[in-house]
Amino acid sequence: MAKATAVAAPRARALAKARGSTPVGSPSEPGRDCPLCPRLAAFRADWRAAEPSWHNAPVPAFGPQDARLLIVGLAPGLRGANRTGRPFTGDFAGDLLYATLIEFGFATGTYAAHPEDGLALRDARIVNAVRCVPPQNKPTPEEIRTCRPFLAAPLAAMPRLKAIVTLGKIAHDSTLAALGERASRLKFGHGVSDTIGAARVFASYHCSRYNTNTRVLTPDMFRSVFAAVRDYLDASA
Ligand code: SF4
Repeated sequence: MAKATAVAAPRARALAKARGSTPVGSPSEPGRDCPLCPRLAAFRADWRAAEPSWHNAPVPAFGPQDARLLIVGLAPGLRGANRTGRPFTGDFAGDLLYATLIEFGFATGTYAAHPEDGLALRDARIVNAVRCVPPQNKPTPEEIRTCRPFLAAPLAAMPRLKAIVTLGKIAHDSTLAALGERASRLKFGHGVSDTIGAARVFASYHCSRYNTNTRVLTPDMFRSVFAAVRDYLDASA
């Protein structure tokens, strides 16, 4: 579970850079003070005042740019990625995601819920469809649209991209839109997949605490998606 360690923003950015993440401020990344979603910018500002040692900024993509797999999440969790500065790090969803990535060879090291745990992604990259933490984990449709260029840019910047895992319907539909497709092109459902452009898209229910506690998503259901991705990438190597 989440370790209540706050990571200073400059330290988190330096760590992200060292581990292959794109640092905040680079061309495909929003600036630390991105003003494009006023509601989210105001929420961020409130949390900067309340918790100055937290990241409290758009969360950069994590993992090598030449990876073949991109995993698209929804948005940073307040006390997860918004606090630590690394996607899915420090809250419940990361426990299942990173354990599964390690199991299928997409990550090495040990996940310990903070950016200094030494975990590294292997042939995989993670980005959120919405880079800033939204109140109650619920971005508005306009915020999802506004942040889409910061999803489209990393997608376009991965020269070896072959597979995309979308976590939840919002991430799925926004990924399709970033690829220039309508949501009807591949209707969201757990386990559905299809080839869109140069990559095969695999959809999964989001690995949130709510979904796992209600058993909408079991660890085995989640594993089955990554097993399919692993088979697909191994067959296309
Ligand atoms: S969610 Fe995206 S577009 Fe909106 S303020 Fe944050 S970084 Fe900018």
